[in-house]
Formats: sequence, structure tokens, C-alpha cells
Amino acid sequence: MDHRGGYDTLVIGGGSAGCALAGRLPGRVLLLEAGPADVPPDVRDAGSLAATSPTHPRNWAYAAELRPGSPAVVPRGRGLGGSGAINGANWVWATPADTRDWAQPGWSWPDLVAAYHRAETDLDHAVPAPPGVQESHVAVPTGQHRGFPEPGRWGHGSAGPVPVRRAGGDLLHPATERFLRAAAALGFPPEPDKNAGAPPGVGLIPCNAVDGVRADPATAYLRAAPGVTVRGNASVAQILFDGDRARGVELVDGSTVEAGEVVLCAGAVGSAQLLMLSGIGPADELRAAGVRVRLDLPVGRDWSDHPAVYVPFADTDPPAHPHAPGSQAGLDLDCGADPAGDGEVLLFVRPFVPGGPLHLMCALQVPDSRGSIALVSPDPRERPLIRYGYLRTEHDRRRLRHVIRTAADLLRAGSGARVAPGGDVLGTDRALDGWIAANLTTAVHLSGSAAMGRVVDPQLRVMGHEGLRVADTSVLPAVPRRGTAATAVAIGERAARLMG
Ligand SMILES: Cc1cc2nc3c(=O)[nH]c(=O)nc-3n(C[C@H](O)[C@H](O)[C@H](O)COP(=O)(O)OP(=O)(O)OC[C@H]3O[C@@H](n4cnc5c(N)ncnc54)[C@H](O)[C@@H]3O)c2cc1C
Repeated sequence: MDHRGGYDTLVIGGGSAGCALAGRLPGRVLLLEAGPADVPPDVRDAGSLAATSPTHPRNWAYAAELRPGSPAVVPRGRGLGGSGAINGANWVWATPADTRDWAQPGWSWPDLVAAYHRAETDLDHAVPAPPGVQESHVAVPTGQHRGFPEPGRWGHGSAGPVPVRRAGGDLLHPATERFLRAAAALGFPPEPDKNAGAPPGVGLIPCNAVDGVRADPATAYLRAAPGVTVRGNASVAQILFDGDRARGVELVDGSTVEAGEVVLCAGAVGSAQLLMLSGIGPADELRAAGVRVRLDLPVGRDWSDHPAVYVPFADTDPPAHPHAPGSQAGLDLDCGADPAGDGEVLLFVRPFVPGGPLHLMCALQVPDSRGSIALVSPDPRERPLIRYGYLRTEHDRRRLRHVIRTAADLLRAGSGARVAPGGDVLGTDRALDGWIAANLTTAVHLSGSAAMGRVVDPQLRVMGHEGLRVADTSVLPAVPRRGTAATAVAIGERAARLMG
């Protein structure tokens, strides 16, 4: 390995994937993070989503367009831990169908499961690994623990740095119990372990938070990583090259850093932006933005994310326990032709504003519609143009309507709760489409802006270049059927193996 600049590897971005990768890499690693290099206590409180406020310093708060005429401000974590430090702390694996759809060598379901295992300690299902055993997936308990059912055949990690737990006992909100009962009454199958690669159904959501404290990726991976140097407030402006070989990066302040290998972990927006600022991207768009083209690749094109709407409902329950996970149960369902589950209803048991309603998040998990990220300028401080292109097809609209109507059925079956939107809206596709347009948001799972097979190879190396990789959710060929936090960390774990 080349040792220019004293570092073997530069990791750009200290988010979910970047922290996992940096923490696992051998040698001398420099992690450059655009935001602050700490995780303050208020951000670690999993019960508070304060950092998702557009004015919070830990939030990039990207201006975006969900559909023509539908502007939005989209949160992403800024600072050590990245989005993994400000997210909902749902730790849910992807599904075997996702890895089949991605069809990338080295990214099979068992490969991904091994990465989840290395990352997690599942406190509901795991037992400590025997002394000296590094790989955690050897230890799967046979007895039941805390009343949870047996884990699926893929087991769980028992020695990884990320603790995982489901709501139980006092932490289980009454609305969660009603949700589970309602789904069963409507005939949806149980999915007792959401991290088992099993068919979709209703079950408790695994969370990477314990006693109300989020196990963010920085705390999990960098506490004991002597080879890693972290620099905060170090915003990278572009990659520097010798011919086709990356030799380092230039920061926004004009300083440079060199190393043997550069890995972009700046997230699905940040990594795409950095590639394009460095001349790697759609040639026509780069020229229009005033950037010299190095290589014409479809960076920032054809990515996907889950379109979502929140259905509010009134409840008369006492407030959630301060340590309770905010989102406790979920129903994954087939909207008509996807047995692996292309729709999702997630229950949120904390109001978004004090005294406000609780919510069911209804999302389309396998959208046809694709988005784009484009540079508007060669200036790295200018935000890129983010267009989600949501709900372009009737197939997408039909399936999202189906998820919302299912959520309304669940509320009625659970408690007879008055549902908003009401029957007048739910009753006609046209009215419901109008309600969706007015309430549309994103689940914030953007994936595929520098995808395997299109921009990087399965080893995550940027095509046509040496010494340059991407390792974050940018590389997923399509957004997985479940949330992306656990998968982002697994990408960091997998990248460390590929580079080791
Ligand atoms: C509010 C919110 C809630 C969410 N809730 C959940 C959930 O409950 N469950 C779930 O599964 N998923 C959830 N997600 C999604 C999940 O958290 C993300 O998909 C995942 O964390 C992305 O990881 P990443 O490593 O790809 O990127 P990130 O974690 O976003 O990391 C990118 C890092 O790069 C840094 N960076 C960017 N540009 C530069 C630059 N030029 N120079 C240096 N550093 C740079 C950023 O500051 C950031 O720290 C949520 C996301 C958000 C935003």
C-alpha cells in the first residue's frame, strides 16, 4: 500500500458507513467529516428527533423537489455519526429479495447477513460470543430471551459494537399492542423477527437504542479505534488525481491531504456531489455546471428512495416511556405483486410536536420512480439540485394508495380511532391522490446515486480509476425494502473486508 501523507486510507464522511469502515480498517486512517467531530448528549437521546429540524446545526437540511411543484427540506446528518446520529434508530435488515434484485457478486444475502452480524449485538436474541471468537454469528441462543420468539435461521450478531433491542415491558406503548392485534385481526401474518430475512408481516421493530440512548455509529465504532484520526469541520471539496489514480483530496479551505486510498462515505448526496465536483459524472451535466469532465458516468442518476406520507391519529394513551423507541412496530406488506413486501406501515408512538397526534408512516418500498442529483456550479459550497421524481407511475401511486388504505383499516380495527384522511378522501383514488400530493414526504433512505454496476464495481472501486472507492448507500443498485441505517453500517463493514 502507498503511504503518501502518512495515511493509508482517507475516509471522507463520518456517517453510518464511514464510521464502520474507519473503525474496521487496518493501518493509519484519517476520517474527514464536514460537520463537528463529536456527538453531543442531546443528539444521543433517541427519544428526541430535534436534530431533524431544518435549523439544527447537525442537519444538512437539503432543499429538494419530491415531485414537480412539491418542494421539501430533506434532513441528513451533518457531523460525526452522520444520519446515523440523528435518525429514528430503527435497525432493520434488508431482505433476501433485495440482494437478488441487486445481483452483485459479493453482495449475496449471506454476505450481507455476515456484515450485519459483525455490526450488531442483538440483546433480545444473542448470547456472548465464546472468548477469542471474532465472528459473532456462531452464537445463536436456543432459549427464549425477554419473551421474544426464536430468531430466524440466519441468527443474530452477539459481539458487534451496535446494541439492538425491541420494545418490551414498560417500553411497549399501548398503541403498539393495538397495532399488532389489529394487523392480526386483518389477517396479516406475523413477522416475529424483522431481522430474519423472513416473509413480510407485522412485528416489533429492532432498534439500535438502549435505555433511550441511540448507539450512533461514531460511538459504536470509533471509541476504541487507535488507528483512526478524526478531523471535524473538514469539508472536502474535490478528489485529487495523478492520472487516473486518486492521490488525496482538497478541502473547502484549500488545504490538501494525501493517502494511499480515498474512500467516499459522504452519503448518497455528498458522495455523488464529490464525484461530480471531481469530474466524474454525466458529461453533459458537468459541462453545463462548469466542471471539467474526467469520466462520463451516470453519477446522481436513477437512484431511489421510499415515498411516504404520515397518517395522523388521535389516542388517549399516556405518553410513551422516556426510554421507549419512537417507532415500535411495523407492517410490511405485498401491495399486489411483490411477495417480499413492497409497502410498509410504521407506527410512531411519540407525537412530532408536544400534544400532537401519533402517526402511521405509510411508504412505498419498491418504487418504480427514480430521482436525480445534479450540480448547479463547480463551487462545492453550492448545494446540488435534488429531484426525487416520486410517484411518476400509476403503479407507484396505486401501491401507495393501497398502503394508506391499509393503515386506515389498521386504525379502525385497532381502536376505532378517527382516521385522517377521512372516508371522503379514502373513498376515491382522485381525492386520495390529492391528499397524498399535499402530504408527500420522503422516508430519507436515498440509495443508488453511485451504484454498483453503473458507477462502482462490486469491490466498490470507481470505474476507470484506481485508489478511489465509494462506500455508503450511494452504491446500492436500488433502495432496499426496509430502512437503510443497518444496511449503511453493513456497507462499511463489507467495504472493510473488501479492502482488507
Ligand atoms: C432524520 C432521519 C431519520 C432516519 N431514520 C432511519 C431509521 O430509523 N431507520 C433506518 O433504517 N434508516 C433511517 N434513516 C436513514 C439512515 O439513517 C441513512 O440511510 C444512513 O444513516 C446513511 O448512511 P451513510 O453512511 O450512507 O450516510 P450518512 O450517515 O448521511 O453520512 C454521510 C456523512 O458524510 C458527511 N459529509 C457529507 N459531505 C461531506 C464532505 N464534502 N466532506 C466531508 N464530509 C462530508 C456528512 O456530514 C455525514 O456525516 C434516517 C435518515 C434520516 C436523515
